[in-house]
Amino acid sequence: MSIIPFGLESLLLILLPMAAASGWYAARRSHRNAAGILPTKPVRADYFKGIHYLLYEQPDKAIESFIKILEIEDETVETHLALGNLYRRRGEMERAIRIHQNLVIQSTLNSDQRHEALLELGQDYLTAGLLDRAESLFQELVGSGYHTVQALRQLIEIYEQEKDWDKAIDSARKLEEITGNQLGGVIAHYYCEKAEQSLRDGNRNTVVLDTVRQALDAHNGCVRASLIEGDALVGIGNLEQAFQAYRRVETQDADYLSEAIDRIYHCYRMLEKPTQGKTDDRTSKKHPITEFFSALLQRYTGVSVTLALSEIKRQEGNEREALAFLTAKLRERPSLRGYQKLLEMELHRMPSDNASDHSLILKELVENLLKNRPIYQCRHCGFPAKLLHWQCPGCKNWSTVKPIQGVEGE
Ligand SMILES: [Zn+2]
Repeated sequence: MSIIPFGLESLLLILLPMAAASGWYAARRSHRNAAGILPTKPVRADYFKGIHYLLYEQPDKAIESFIKILEIEDETVETHLALGNLYRRRGEMERAIRIHQNLVIQSTLNSDQRHEALLELGQDYLTAGLLDRAESLFQELVGSGYHTVQALRQLIEIYEQEKDWDKAIDSARKLEEITGNQLGGVIAHYYCEKAEQSLRDGNRNTVVLDTVRQALDAHNGCVRASLIEGDALVGIGNLEQAFQAYRRVETQDADYLSEAIDRIYHCYRMLEKPTQGKTDDRTSKKHPITEFFSALLQRYTGVSVTLALSEIKRQEGNEREALAFLTAKLRERPSLRGYQKLLEMELHRMPSDNASDHSLILKELVENLLKNRPIYQCRHCGFPAKLLHWQCPGCKNWSTVKPIQGVEGE
């Protein structure tokens, strides 16, 4: 086993080219000194002192030594950038920042080198959570036209963290323009974030609707926008349009259909309720809820539609039919949530003193099993979740956390 501390091998590997560079640099300096032009500087001595400090795990002293060599010539810039980056990867942010800051202030750097050092320093600040400093450096880069794509990506990350959705939209649009890559899907989420914030701030549903329509303009496949739109329309009593918004989810991304099923069901139920004292066509109109879900069941195999249909049958007084339907569906496609519903319906049918201990125990077991299971999972990084996160907390991708399919999920 190596006695060299973890990560030090990489540091030494990076420093090998510096050895060559500093040797060359020292030789050149002594040559120039012999000609009486420049004074001798103990460059190699500083370099080897640096290595010595690294080996004895005194990184701050090592950095001092390396910075002394860094009265920079072109040849050592890349090495120092790499050294700073390595410290950043190791999570030693103060050291990374120190090296990159020292590079930025060197008057001998050409424009490319200075902007590269600024980009690295910005990344250090971002990793260290110094968001204001990072933001101003990345803005400087965008303004000067250097590393624009990387700088915009980092700015978007900062605005997402700060929940500054207007700036995130602005930067994403710029990035779209430069790279030609469509970012409508992400921009739509930023508008949805604004719409949800607007709801939390107590704004009227009409204000929320304006924002959510901007989301759909950015990306008409945005499921989240359809759900928020439907909720806001329910809020202003426009149930027919709310139903259309929820229904859109199936064509946008059927993986999320389970999120819309309960809403569709309640929307239908409200539409069916006769309004007191009113007999107009719209409110008294019967909606073929059973037909709608039966048709949906032909296209979608998830358990949510089955559960909705069995509940509709039960509420219509067809308890036996509901049980038979659910049992048949569970035989075709087993599902824990289905079993839970089956047990609930079975117990509901029995008078409470007749409920068998076995049924109660079984119901409790299934409930406990479901309570501790994630319902959602990120398709990109596997992050498990009990709640639907539109941005994965693990990998930060948007729309990758989806309902889990199969026996334990949808
Ligand atoms: Zn993820």
